[in-house]
Amino acid sequence: MVDGTWRRVAQAAGLLDPSGVPAPTIFARMSELATRTDSINLGQGFPDTDGPAAVLEAAVAAIRGGANQYPPGRGIAPLRRAIAEHQQRRYGLDVDPDTEVLVTAGATEALTASIIALTSPGDEVVVLEPIYDSYSAAIEMAGAVRRTVRLEWPEYRLQADRLTAAVTDRTRLILLNTPHNPTGRVLDRAELELIARIAQERDLIVIADEVYEHLTFGGHPHVPIATLPGMAARTVTISSAGKTFSVTGWKIGWLHARPEIVDAVTAVKQFLTYVNGSPFQPAVATGLALPDEQIRAIGTDLAQRSALLTDGLKAAGFGVRPSDGTYFVIADAAPLGYADGAALCNDLPRLAGVVGVPVQAFAEDPSQPSSLVRFACCKRPEVIAEAASRLAAMRP
Ligand code: PMP
Ligand code: GLN
Repeated sequence: MVDGTWRRVAQAAGLLDPSGVPAPTIFARMSELATRTDSINLGQGFPDTDGPAAVLEAAVAAIRGGANQYPPGRGIAPLRRAIAEHQQRRYGLDVDPDTEVLVTAGATEALTASIIALTSPGDEVVVLEPIYDSYSAAIEMAGAVRRTVRLEWPEYRLQADRLTAAVTDRTRLILLNTPHNPTGRVLDRAELELIARIAQERDLIVIADEVYEHLTFGGHPHVPIATLPGMAARTVTISSAGKTFSVTGWKIGWLHARPEIVDAVTAVKQFLTYVNGSPFQPAVATGLALPDEQIRAIGTDLAQRSALLTDGLKAAGFGVRPSDGTYFVIADAAPLGYADGAALCNDLPRLAGVVGVPVQAFAEDPSQPSSLVRFACCKRPEVIAEAASRLAAMRP
C-alpha cells in the first residue's frame, strides 16, 4: 500500500473515492469527459483562441534567441520590472522589482509556496467557499487547517459576522480570491475593507489571488486589497499571465509582497520548481507592457462572451446570476427539473453534448444548493451559441 501525505491532500481536495483511490481534479475529469464524448467543453477554464500576437511572437523570438536555460531564481529582471511597472501604472502600487517580486510556475505555485512558507502546522487559514481546488490541497500540504467562510448563492456577498466567526487565535492567513472563481463575483470595496480591518486588528497576512484582475465587466472594477490603507505591508498579491493573455499552458505567475515575505516564499518556491518557463518570461513582460487599451479590450471582449453565455443559459431555462468578471457563469439547473448538478454534469454530454462543472466540487457545505453548474465563457461566440442552443433543446 502506497501511503503518505498524498492521502490527506487528495482528501482535503475532495478527490478520494470511498475505496481510497485518488481521482484527478474535477477540471481534468471534465476535460477528459468532453474529449471522450466529443462535447463542447465549457468545463475547465481555458480559451479556445490565442492571445495577443505580440506576446506569442515574443516567446518564439525568445526560443530562437537562446532563452532556453534556467532563468534566475526570482524571474528575469525585465519581467520583474514589467510586473512592478504594471502594478504602478494600473493601481498606483509601489513595488520594488528586485526585492518585492517573485516569478512562479503559475499562480498555483505562488499560492502553494506562500501557504507553506507563511504557516506552521496547526495554523489556520481562512478561505472563502465556494473554494478553488488547489487552496485546500496546499493548506493540507502545509499541515495547516482550513476555516471556510461561506458566500451564499445568488448574491455571494461576504458577510462580516461569518468572517469574524472564522478567525481564531490560530489564524495566520486570509486567502482571498477576487475576481472570484467559480462565482464570477468581484468583491467590492466594502467587502475588501472588512477583510482589511480584520487582518489589521488580528495581525494577519492576506493572500490575494487576483488571476482574473483584467477580466472584469462594466461597473465592477477590480480593486487589489494591497491598495487599501495599511494593506501593502501585509498582502501577498498573486496573479498570472494565463488568463490575461490566453496562455494558460505557459504557467507563468507571480507574486509581490514586502521583502521579508518574498524572501520567505522564495525559500520554499526554489524547492518546488526552482525556476520555470525561460522563453515565456520575456513574452509575458511584453504582454504586461502592452498599451492599456489593448489589455482593457481583452476584458471587454470577454464581457460580451459572458453576456452571450448568460443570455443563452437563461433562454435554455437555467436560473443565472450574471457574472461581474472571470471566465465563468454559474447557472441553476433546478428550474429545469435537475436537483443534482453533479449528476447533471455527468449526463450533460449525453443530454446536450456540453460539459460544465458542478459547483458542489467547490463547496463542502451541504446547505449550499446542489443544482448549480459552472459554465466557462472563454470560448468563441459561435461555440457559446451552439452550446446554448443544445442546452435549450435538452429535456429532463
Ligand atoms: N487561482 C484561480 C482562482 C484560478 O482560477 C486558477 C486557474 N487557472 C489559478 C489560480 C491557477 O492559475 P495558474 O494556471 O496560473 O497556475
Ligand atoms: N482554473 C481553471 C478552472 O477553474 C482550471 C485550472 C486547472 O485545471 N488547474 O477551470
